[in-house]
Amino acid sequence: MTGDRVMSDGSRPFQERVRHLRDAWVRDGRGHAFLVTGTAFFAVYCWSLNYKISDPAAPAYDAELAEFVAASYELNGGSVGWNAMLSRREICSTCHDWYRLENLGICTGCMRHTCYGCGDHEWCAGELL
Ligand SMILES: [Zn+2]
Ligand SMILES: [Zn+2]
Repeated sequence: MTGDRVMSDGSRPFQERVRHLRDAWVRDGRGHAFLVTGTAFFAVYCWSLNYKISDPAAPAYDAELAEFVAASYELNGGSVGWNAMLSRREICSTCHDWYRLENLGICTGCMRHTCYGCGDHEWCAGELL
C-alpha cells in the first residue's frame, strides 16, 4: 500500500506523514490506495486515540483525518480486526522480548515496536505511542 510506504518514511515528522496521506486520500476520491494497514495502521490509530483526533471537543480534532482513520479502521477489519491485532505477539525492538501488541508501544520515528519498560528511543526524534 502507498499509505504504508509513506508512513514508514521516518525522515518526515509523523504528523506530516499522516496529513499528507489524509490529503492524498481525499484527492484520490477516498479509495483504498492511501489508507494504512498493519503496523502503519497500528501507529496511526494509536496516535489518533492519543490525540483524540475523532473527538469534536478535542483541540486536535480534524474531521477529514477522523474519516481517514475510520476508513483505515474498516479496511483493517473494524473492531474484530483491531482486537485480533492487539492480541498478536510482536517483538520489542530494544529488549527483543515478545509482547502482545496491546502491551507494546510504537515509535513514531522509526515505526518499530517498543515495550513501555524500554521506553522512548534516544536515537529517534519520534514519540512512543
Ligand atoms: Zn523492551
Ligand atoms: Zn524509534
